[in-house]
Amino acid sequence: MTEAPAARPAYRRILLKLSGEALMGDKPFGIDEGVVARIAAQIRGVFETGVEIGIVVGGGNVIRGLAASHRGVERATGDYMGMLATVINSLAMQDALEKTGVPTRVQTALEMRSVAEPFIRRRAIRHLEKGRVVIFGAGAGNPYLTTDTAAALRANEVQAEILLKATQVDGVYSADPRRNADAKRLPQVTYQEVLERNLGIMDAAAISLCRENDLPIAVFDLGVEGNILRVVLGERVGSLVK
Ligand code: UDP
Repeated sequence: MTEAPAARPAYRRILLKLSGEALMGDKPFGIDEGVVARIAAQIRGVFETGVEIGIVVGGGNVIRGLAASHRGVERATGDYMGMLATVINSLAMQDALEKTGVPTRVQTALEMRSVAEPFIRRRAIRHLEKGRVVIFGAGAGNPYLTTDTAAALRANEVQAEILLKATQVDGVYSADPRRNADAKRLPQVTYQEVLERNLGIMDAAAISLCRENDLPIAVFDLGVEGNILRVVLGERVGSLVK
């Protein structure tokens, strides 16, 4: 029996940002392997369309530098701890993806050569061209940044055509939907509006980087099965920042 051909992607290359919290499912902390396997299965479906995929994973399921600093850890040290957490998550994602048969490479912004390749932009692009999913660990390698900013950076560096911000809400809202019943989802919004109205989907550094380079950002709910694929196929899901 021959399989139906996969639908055509709307993009040649994408960068997917997954928060660390997305990997912990209902747990209070850490990694839920079942959840990671389900995300990997979704990414496998996207991979089958032939689109080139880069991934940045956060570390908030383990530690965030800012939160640790409120508990007394020196801020920069806390941030390095956070970056190391993203490497743990990157390896979990790599493991789950390879189990679905997707070839991957992990590249880290902090060197740890016995664990992963160092981030080398041109090599990352080569991997993508060869059909390997590249997972970028350790954020941007600098404290005082977030993995959202790292995702915007890497997306621009590897010339992705869109940044996919997979999150827990189904798009950008006019106000925080958890606190304001009148908050409305905005199907399309400009970078400027996101910054001026402080719409809080990504930090300002990430939004500014995307704005300067005309990189659109798709914001959508990762919890809805198949959403990553829908965005990649060009369907209007969630919100588009452009
Ligand atoms: N971090 C950093 N520099 C970076 C990326 C991340 O210092 O370039 C640290 C920072 O402390 C951050 C933590 O790593 O809080 C985990 O990343 P993030 O909070 O962005 O993860 P997410 O919210 O996506 O799970």
